[in-house]
Amino acid sequence: METATDTAIDVINPITKTRLYAIEETPEQTVAEVFDRSRKIQPSIRKLTVKQRVTEVLRIKEYIIDNRESILTRIIEETGKSRVDGFTSEVFEIIDVIDVFAKLAPKFLKNRKVPTPLVLIGKKSEIWYEPLGTILVIPPWNYPLYQALVPSIMAFLSGNAVVVKPSEVTPLKGLVEDILEKSGFMKNAIQVVYGSGVTGIRCIDARPDKIHFTGSCRTGKKIMAHAAQHLIPVDLELGGKDAAIVFDDINIERTVNGIMWGGYTTGGQSCTSVERCYVHTNIFDAFVEMLTDRSKKLRMSHAERNIEDPEDCDVGCVTTEFQLQIIEGHIADAVAKGAKVLCGGSREAGTHHFPPTVIVGVDHSMEIMTEETFGPVIPVMRFETEEEAIALANDSVYGLGGSVWSKDIKRARRAASAIKTGNLSINNHMLNEGNPNLPFGGIKNSGFGRYKGEAGLLTFSNAKSVLVDADGSNIDPNWYPFTKGKYKLLSGIVDYLFSDKKRNWLKFALVGLKIDSIGKKEKLN
Ligand code: NAD
Repeated sequence: METATDTAIDVINPITKTRLYAIEETPEQTVAEVFDRSRKIQPSIRKLTVKQRVTEVLRIKEYIIDNRESILTRIIEETGKSRVDGFTSEVFEIIDVIDVFAKLAPKFLKNRKVPTPLVLIGKKSEIWYEPLGTILVIPPWNYPLYQALVPSIMAFLSGNAVVVKPSEVTPLKGLVEDILEKSGFMKNAIQVVYGSGVTGIRCIDARPDKIHFTGSCRTGKKIMAHAAQHLIPVDLELGGKDAAIVFDDINIERTVNGIMWGGYTTGGQSCTSVERCYVHTNIFDAFVEMLTDRSKKLRMSHAERNIEDPEDCDVGCVTTEFQLQIIEGHIADAVAKGAKVLCGGSREAGTHHFPPTVIVGVDHSMEIMTEETFGPVIPVMRFETEEEAIALANDSVYGLGGSVWSKDIKRARRAASAIKTGNLSINNHMLNEGNPNLPFGGIKNSGFGRYKGEAGLLTFSNAKSVLVDADGSNIDPNWYPFTKGKYKLLSGIVDYLFSDKKRNWLKFALVGLKIDSIGKKEKLN
């Protein structure tokens, strides 16, 4: 264990509440040096073909596959996740994303030819996807490795250098560097700096070419405001308050299991957790009874956990003390307003271990139904009609994810399309994130921009639009001098080509012939 200094930020193991180590803010000078190295290496990344970049990234994949158990143990020590949660949502996901993008990146980043309209006959049009430069990646504490590596890998595949500033809560100090160095990945292409928001601001002031931020809405606003001073573009992946709508024709057992996983995975600390559950009145009592019964049977986190054993814990602990206080605050507010806790409801005294919690008697006057709770808590509310369920789901400032559960796929699709979010699963929850081919991102207060999918790769590119014309004697009809003759011909195009009423192919062909040569006749001598 290291010795703390005045400015040190302690990193805590939430399972045992012991101090693991401390980090310091990265000084301005060091941040400047890191960005300097980044700018020096970037032209070499740009020169690599996309296939060569893929080869680099595949080294990371192989290294993670070979060292997944030790990597996972590091993640659990800082986050308190259950082993299976950590495996599926961090290690497995990173490997899957690399595997999929090794094939997709060369396809998506290829220069594209696009059609050139008839009026620009003889010219060619193309889109070239070029790197932006250096990308600053700022991840949150809940998926520390996944959120650090996935956007960084996307940015690198697009030809950029990357600087990552991990969360001070779960910095995984040295882990990303180890993975990069020991896998033989290109040196300095992805660098890491440590610290809190103070270091984050220093990184923004070092003027990256784009910021990819994942975190809270509050911090997202601050980052956007600061980035605006330098006109740096930002992608903001922010929080959510995802609704799950359960209709009365579902298989109750399957859906209860799905909702429990959606609500409790990673201790409920997922941006797309089930944060609100609306259940049709016909099955409400049976559903709640089974949800409560099954929730009580889950093995919760405890201080003596054997973190190497995947069976020792189903629901991991809450990573931070401040998050526990938010969860407790939301439950207290709901109970004070008449809600009833059916199981769980309070932490094991003096620890971060919080049992899976089911609450009923909730409504939208309560924080638990409107603010991000971010804990293993499922508030369940009754609805009678499809319209009512949709209105409740849309009654939120957030728009990240959500789910609709019904055997009637037509109805499920209809409801899914009426819910205002960036992502939605039918008869599952947050599984969109399990498919790297799908774009992921939010609307409303959940942010903007997409990562993964085609949009998530191209977000790190400058889509340069290129028009190629031929040299020769032609002088374009819209070039100087402007004459009545040219104007008449250009006007003729509008009538004979574009107007539904006056379209006339013969007249358009005649105009076309004249327009081709008018530049030669009516030109500046
Ligand atoms: P946070 O906003 O507190 O911190 C996120 C990151 O921003 C950290 O690295 C932090 O050090 C840094 N930071 C803080 N202040 C800063 C500043 N002024 N300038 C620059 N950087 C600054 O978020 P968190 O508590 O770590 O993460 C939890 C939140 O993240 C939740 O709201 C969750 O829903 C959200 N989240 C969203 C997604 C998504 O994809 N939409 C995924 C995971 C988590």
